Amino acid sequence: MDNKNKYDRKCAIHKEHKIKIICATCKVVVCIECILSDHNGHKLDRIDVENSKKIFEEFKNNHIQNLDKQIDINNELLNKSNNLFKSIEDKHTENVNTITEVFKELSKLLPIIEIDKIKQLVTLYDENKDINTNISTTIHDNLNNINLITNKYKNTINHINIDKIINNNNDQHIEILKHCSQSQLLIKDNQNENKIKELINQYKNVNIVNNSEQVKNSIKEIFEISNSLSITNVKDPKRVISGRFTAEYFIYKNDSIIPNGTIHVAIGPSVKTIKIGSIPTSVQNLLLLDGFNVQLTEGMLPQSIRFLFVGAIKKPLLKSSIPNGVIALSLLDGFNQEITEIPQSVKELFLFDTPLTNFPYSKILIHRSPKYKQQLTHSNVRNWDGGNWEPKIEF
Ligand SMILES: [Zn+2]
Ligand SMILES: [Zn+2]
Repeated sequence: MDNKNKYDRKCAIHKEHKIKIICATCKVVVCIECILSDHNGHKLDRIDVENSKKIFEEFKNNHIQNLDKQIDINNELLNKSNNLFKSIEDKHTENVNTITEVFKELSKLLPIIEIDKIKQLVTLYDENKDINTNISTTIHDNLNNINLITNKYKNTINHINIDKIINNNNDQHIEILKHCSQSQLLIKDNQNENKIKELINQYKNVNIVNNSEQVKNSIKEIFEISNSLSITNVKDPKRVISGRFTAEYFIYKNDSIIPNGTIHVAIGPSVKTIKIGSIPTSVQNLLLLDGFNVQLTEGMLPQSIRFLFVGAIKKPLLKSSIPNGVIALSLLDGFNQEITEIPQSVKELFLFDTPLTNFPYSKILIHRSPKYKQQLTHSNVRNWDGGNWEPKIEF
């Protein structure tokens, strides 16, 4: 190997090209490809002693010192990326499990529905079958009687001497009288015929409405899969000031301890979970900030809260998530989640820019700010100027 080939003189960016020249504008060595792309139009210079020395000095005094910092920065970014990916991975497992569970339930449900539907059909079929048996038996009995009587009397009735038979004093005449009665019943007023016709009218036609195509189509919508940038909205604001007073909100972070006596608390998107009891009962004003992503359950928010402000949060307000003690509920800009239940304690609802029109209210006075654009049919609605009511949020 000759001396020249021992050293790496490939371009750092274009591995297939050799370093040819110095870009004097950027103070770096470049290849022909560099000149044609990133360094197009830059001032170029030869790799001579003077230029090489200049670049080396820069390397020695500056770059090499700063490389250490880059190790930390790179490692931090790698950590951040891996942590983020870990939570994405966990969520993925959770999602797959949810879908698997739901489909397992569905596949159990299908044969149950199948059996039930067939059972309904069989029940109706059995009713028809009973009617058929009933009719056949009746007609069979009728024909037997008719045959018996006609065979017995058809050719002989004119030769029967009824006086003689009666005088014989056996019961032959009784049998004749019985056959007469039977004939009468078969003939009289179309009674027998009507009875059979009535039975025939009891047959039920059974149809099925086949909705399977619709169901097949709608079942595809059983899960909606969406995605969004994972980094967005995880930022908590720097400062939140109450709109009506000049009180500053305490911004709750994961595991932060809210000092007892705190009245105003805001919870942002960085919070992953709220342990029951972590919000003290001194808190009366609570603000759920845009991007707040915790599924509230009973007891998470204390009953001391009187004023609840809700921004563009990411989870619905399910039953018992609004504490029974809130008297005024404000739905701020961008609120677009389902509210399953508003507790009895809530007397007033303040609406900002939210698309919601359906509220599980009982006796609530609704105040609509100028930002609220939807139609409301509720009788107890007041237009209101917004009253400097919204919290002021600074990032
Ligand atoms: Zn290059
Ligand atoms: Zn350049």
